Amino acid sequence: MIPPVPDELSAPHWEAAARGVLAVPRCADCEWLVLPPEPVCPQCGSVAPAYRYEGLSGRGTIRSWTVVRKSFLGEPTPFTVVDVELAEQPDLRMIGRLVHGEPHPGDTVTAIFPDGIPAWTT
Ligand SMILES: [Zn+2]
Repeated sequence: MIPPVPDELSAPHWEAAARGVLAVPRCADCEWLVLPPEPVCPQCGSVAPAYRYEGLSGRGTIRSWTVVRKSFLGEPTPFTVVDVELAEQPDLRMIGRLVHGEPHPGDTVTAIFPDGIPAWTT
């Protein structure tokens, strides 16, 4: 697995993941969870959203999935990637590997953190 390269906005997410916590930024102006954090809040348009990260439940629902059969980063293939809607807010989506279980849309999944990187298990 290629390690993440955090930037100023995403560093708290990766620091929490290293502790086994799924942390997502919340806009201080509109209270909307935003993933990934954008310089301009996509919900309220604030140009200074002053995000604060909070730990979530780590639960979500598979909305879609695919199998990666060729990796341009040299990772072993095949592996499954799922599009997960997080439990805390409608349409709050996160993409990640499904490391245990089968990908069935509508099934619930839980975040796990192999090597400090969020992934999913059924
Ligand atoms: Zn906002």
